[in-house]
Amino acid sequence: MLALVKTEPGPGLVLQTVPDPQVGINDVLIRVRKTGICGTDLHIESWDPWAAKTIHPPLVPGHEFVGQIVAVGANVSDFHPGDVVSGEGHVTCGRCRHCMAGRRHLCANTVGLGVGRDGAFAEYVVLPMTNVWHHWPGIDEDVAAIFDPFGNAVHTALAFPVLGEDVLITGAGPIGLMATAVVRHAGARFVVVSEPNPVRRALASRMGATVAVDPGARDLADVQRELGMVEGFDVALEMSGAPAAIRATLDNMAHGGAIAILGIPTQDVSLDVNEIVFKLLTVRGIYGREMYETWYKMTVMLQSGLDISPAITHRFSYREHEAAFAAARSGDAGKVILDWNPQTDG
Ligand code: NAD
Ligand code: ZN
Repeated sequence: MLALVKTEPGPGLVLQTVPDPQVGINDVLIRVRKTGICGTDLHIESWDPWAAKTIHPPLVPGHEFVGQIVAVGANVSDFHPGDVVSGEGHVTCGRCRHCMAGRRHLCANTVGLGVGRDGAFAEYVVLPMTNVWHHWPGIDEDVAAIFDPFGNAVHTALAFPVLGEDVLITGAGPIGLMATAVVRHAGARFVVVSEPNPVRRALASRMGATVAVDPGARDLADVQRELGMVEGFDVALEMSGAPAAIRATLDNMAHGGAIAILGIPTQDVSLDVNEIVFKLLTVRGIYGREMYETWYKMTVMLQSGLDISPAITHRFSYREHEAAFAAARSGDAGKVILDWNPQTDG
């Protein structure tokens, strides 16, 4: 099969022919149709210090995908050739305390699709049946391709109740953009998005932000005054990894508020812990998606009118992977989709 491969330590990915993946008795073999490009893939492509320490080439990266089942292992009875599916990218151990209790998102032994095992930037991908999610017939293929990061957005956005609450979202990358639409759908009153990039602020407004603010130009206390807020934000979703954003969030929380942190800082962050103490804040880290409550919520919210499609801004054939990665890296894109359908072969 054709796959985009990290062939050796160092920058770049090579489109080349590799052996088809082996299908074990508990596995599902999927013909990939569309994939999303994630920040993780950009790290692997550019071979930054995280990638150099984490990735062991040769590796097929990619973990955001939709495809169609072509074969299943002998133990698999719930999935059939032709089914349209996506995959949960965290392959859990199944044996630890949390896995045994059904809290698989808390598994400490997770192997990442496209990180610790070959992923979805290929014509075929294989996953254990416990990692496969059925889509309903007729789902938009581009939206189905990004269920993995959509799940990050939903897991974070629904970590705390938002109905009637004032929500702050720091960072309007693809995940912050989707979270904006989710908290709007879930009944938040004001949704304030803080984001330095003007292209992404415009997208945030399209996704339903009440105000999209440039943190370098205007402080959040000023936005609160404009909106008539008096107590601070009830819920904050940290989706930038930026130390300044985390500090600004703490300064602007209401007493008793809650912060869900998804963004991954690349440096140490110093915080005034007094703000957490004296405001009685709850701070929760978010990693991945809940298996499979988050997937269920994604599905039913889309079926009840949630639209995340404006977060998808670019589409390329897999043969144009360099242009696709450049678009994703530019910062001026929302979600970038790679199409692996054969008709796009040029
Ligand atoms: P992204 O890098 O595309 O978006 C981050 C955004 O934050 C950018 O648009 C950037 O301009 C903005 N930003 C930078 N400084 C800011 C500041 N001071 N205030 C407000 N915004 C600021 O990333 P993404 O793909 O949308 O992912 C969001 C974050 O979540 C990243 O940190 C990513 O590494 C992390 N992530 C975590 C998980 C998890 O499971 N915990 C999964 C996927 C991604
Ligand atoms: Zn486990």
